[in-house]
Amino acid sequence: MKILFGPVSSRRFGLSLGVDLSPLKKQCNFDCVYCELVRAKPVRMQDEVVSVEQIVKEVKEALQKGIAFDYLTLTANGEPSLYPHLKELVYALKTLLHKKKILILSNGTAVLDQFKFKTLLDIDVVKFSLDSAISKTFHRIDKALRSIDLSLMIEKMAEFRMEFKGELVMEILVVAGINDNEIEFNALNEALSVIAPTRVDISTIDRPPAYPVKAVSEERLKELALCIDCVPVLLPKRYLNEQKIDFTEDELLKMFHLRPQSELDIEMKLSPKSKKIVQKLFESGAVKMVDLAGVKFYRV
Ligand code: SF4
Repeated sequence: MKILFGPVSSRRFGLSLGVDLSPLKKQCNFDCVYCELVRAKPVRMQDEVVSVEQIVKEVKEALQKGIAFDYLTLTANGEPSLYPHLKELVYALKTLLHKKKILILSNGTAVLDQFKFKTLLDIDVVKFSLDSAISKTFHRIDKALRSIDLSLMIEKMAEFRMEFKGELVMEILVVAGINDNEIEFNALNEALSVIAPTRVDISTIDRPPAYPVKAVSEERLKELALCIDCVPVLLPKRYLNEQKIDFTEDELLKMFHLRPQSELDIEMKLSPKSKKIVQKLFESGAVKMVDLAGVKFYRV
């Protein structure tokens, strides 16, 4: 049984040491069509549970070995908030980790349970998924337990955001022919404007999925991302051969004014000449750099 994995370096959350809260089998209240795990009937709770002591022991050993990481990431073969001792675990880890941050990668359903809702308030960075803001599509993609009410979940996510002192990242995964259209993205934009997360990450399938569904092209992802104008957007995956464009200073200022651009955007989109202008704007204070849940964004 392997509880800890990594550390792995990701564009989304820096260097992360993973903790698998369901190491023995998939235990999830969703059965997403794009899941990289095997298909499995959604469940309400875990029936195979690892002890808090075992997890804490392994984390302690990693710390003693001096393994470097920025985030301890609570994840699972399934939904980590189904772990029944999450509160005790978070408490024990916080005492152990001192200044290192805890991140949880949840499908968002934790907000529907008041006890889990409160537990997540103690975590530094919370990632929720939201693949659709339209109930029919949400159930088609995520194959959630029928009792999960999407509009209530969105409402609770917004409530969570109001109380939460940490950073909330939302994630949208785009599946060809299901949520890859403007109607879906306009509805998502509306939901995100109510939730007001720190940033939203948009990606598509890049591993073999549980069901026969397909990814969308990089181009389409970029077009859909333009529908999201209420929150900084990160497209974590970029092709290296993306065309580099020359922008004038005015064009760059307008771009930063319209939407924050991640370091990755700058790296992938801009010509060397434009990058120099960005550097100059940054040094003069016309453009600022902000850290949004571990990812640096330029903004005016
Ligand atoms: S929420 Fe995550 S683990 Fe659960 S089915 Fe969806 S992708 Fe798989």
